[in-house]
Amino acid sequence: MALPQTALVDDVTELLILWPHLAGALERDQGPIDTERVSGGEGTFGLPVNADVLEAVRILNLDVPTLAQWASGIVAEPHQSRSVDDHLRHFPRFHERMLVTAAIHEAARLAASVHALLRQVKLAVGLRTVDRRLGQFCPLHDHPLRELVAPGDEGELCYRRLDRAGQPIAPTVTWRRSDCALCRHCGAAWEPSQYLLLGRLLREADARRLAAEIEARGAA
Ligand SMILES: [Zn+2]
Repeated sequence: MALPQTALVDDVTELLILWPHLAGALERDQGPIDTERVSGGEGTFGLPVNADVLEAVRILNLDVPTLAQWASGIVAEPHQSRSVDDHLRHFPRFHERMLVTAAIHEAARLAASVHALLRQVKLAVGLRTVDRRLGQFCPLHDHPLRELVAPGDEGELCYRRLDRAGQPIAPTVTWRRSDCALCRHCGAAWEPSQYLLLGRLLREADARRLAAEIEARGAA
């Protein structure tokens, strides 16, 4: 039976394509000649920042087996030691098992974790720019306080098909750019046309937090 084409499947496909590039990215980054480095211009696999590459490799090697162990526990399968690639390939099946056994929260957690891994790898291979901090907390919740961001640009690989090594043939990169103010905690986003509304919400949140602080001081 074919798996449903969920966001998780897409994320796993992209991870399987991109993550072998991390090793190459490390070598390029350490190359002695500047011209050998891949430039970070738009529409290319950019020059990764070494620290981002190392961090992505570290996270994948640590987190993917840990996530796999947790997921196999949820779907009551014995955990097997596999390569990162093979673990990734099993994630869509685990996800589907979770959905059919009503482990909805666990399925969402698996999908979110895989998406976070993809974001890390994209940053490392130059397919994402970092979020810009906006200096204001999300007005929709006080616990936790989370700063709003202008999301970084994200490059999406477009291709017709994969070659035998699982790499896309003649891929192009489409950059997606968003001008909204976004909360990465709750997912709320405000487009520029909604900034007046956002301003009002921010003022209300400030007043609410100030009142809570005064009340806490009074009780102390
Ligand atoms: Zn929020």
